[in-house]
Amino acid sequence: MTDTSKPNKDMERDSLRELAQPPVELRELLRYSASCRCGRDHSVDIADISLREHAIEDLPSILENFGQNQRIVVVADRVTREIAGDSVQRITASAGHRVGVCVVPDGIGGRPHADETALEIVQRSLAQADLALAVGSGTINDLVKLASFRRTIPYVVVATAPSMNGYTSAISAITVRGVKRTIDCRQPYAVIADLAILCRAPRDLTLAGLGDLESKPTATADYRLGGRLRRTYYCPAPERVVRRAEERAAGYAEGINRGDPEAMAALTEALLLSGISMKLAGSSSPASGGEHLMSHFWDMTASEENRIEGWHGAQVGVCTMVTAALYEQLREIRPDSLDIEAIAASRPSVEEITRQIRRRHGTRANEVVSEYFDKHLSNDDLYRELEDLKQHWDEIWGGLSDTLRPAGAIRRILATAGASITVQQIGLTPRHLKTSFLAAREIRGRFTVLDLAADLGLLEKLCDDAIKIAIG
Ligand SMILES: [Zn+2]
Ligand SMILES: [Zn+2]
Repeated sequence: MTDTSKPNKDMERDSLRELAQPPVELRELLRYSASCRCGRDHSVDIADISLREHAIEDLPSILENFGQNQRIVVVADRVTREIAGDSVQRITASAGHRVGVCVVPDGIGGRPHADETALEIVQRSLAQADLALAVGSGTINDLVKLASFRRTIPYVVVATAPSMNGYTSAISAITVRGVKRTIDCRQPYAVIADLAILCRAPRDLTLAGLGDLESKPTATADYRLGGRLRRTYYCPAPERVVRRAEERAAGYAEGINRGDPEAMAALTEALLLSGISMKLAGSSSPASGGEHLMSHFWDMTASEENRIEGWHGAQVGVCTMVTAALYEQLREIRPDSLDIEAIAASRPSVEEITRQIRRRHGTRANEVVSEYFDKHLSNDDLYRELEDLKQHWDEIWGGLSDTLRPAGAIRRILATAGASITVQQIGLTPRHLKTSFLAAREIRGRFTVLDLAADLGLLEKLCDDAIKIAIG
């Protein structure tokens, strides 16, 4: 027995290594499930994705899986109802189902918002439904994902714009009492991404999709850094799923600018894979790092400044240039120049940090304090982290080199596509950028490059240089 146990163990390890490589094609990822050597099981709940021109024709066959004469509620907003909601309703009725319609009302800025009021409306509309059919992009998808999850019914989404990566994710972003939260739910049963519809999406929304996608290099670097420095959960499998698709989409920047169907297909595919990578990881970590925190910070402060929240991906794209620039600055540091004693000695005390958070975050301060202190290191732990950094500096940066992309390259990709590359273009000021750079890391317990800079005592020192790439 003892003789054979070792080879068996080796074989087992080898087979798990095989399983740690999920496929990179959408089709092969449907209902994917495998154990991984990271110790977790990775799975995808989505049963069907149709990404092609006239994909909407696939709707009846997808609905067939639920049986005959189902009670189906189509959820749309004023705009998406016109774009696709009416035809979805017609197709569903012709397939022999009983169809109801819920139109989510517009909020401030003349568009709907994913908040508790809208959620209540959607949830109520699904009271008797067997299935929800979301027709829209970010907001409608978030609302229906959470409302159907709470009603314990499945949902299918008909995408109306390649504007974000949430179609295939298992989390919903909802604003509750003014604070943006991500809530765990289920992935949709199916996604219909009809290129005929997506190619007619408002240009701003498509460019926002590219901005969201372009955060992948820095978000992945943050995810890896968290795993390496803070021992937070990290697995290389999720990021592998989206990597090639992201590079392909970035290469289509010009085509995205022109609205070419082939480019739109590449962008949509990469966004769908990005959502799947979050499901595989069990969190948004592989697709949401410091650049997302900066964007969320602007969203959270919008109402008190009487601003309307900007497009998520447009903000994220601009912030990604900044966090990429910060990575470049930090990488320039020579490890032997790090004076650990001096860094630790100049660190603000817990009381000082708490006072600063209260000053910066006003009515949300209590919540922010508890998030921030999730990742705050004791002096001893900071000391250890800095020692680790100093000793393994080159190895740590080597581990990030294949994902990081120069800030200038990200700027070029966004500019080529016609997306916003300055904070002014997204309706904000250099002051907004600076405040967010300094304060955003406090709103979430997730470790990012902004924390790395803060741990090195450099966040404020490097701020002006890092943000200048995004100031027009
Ligand atoms: Zn894994
Ligand atoms: Zn995002």
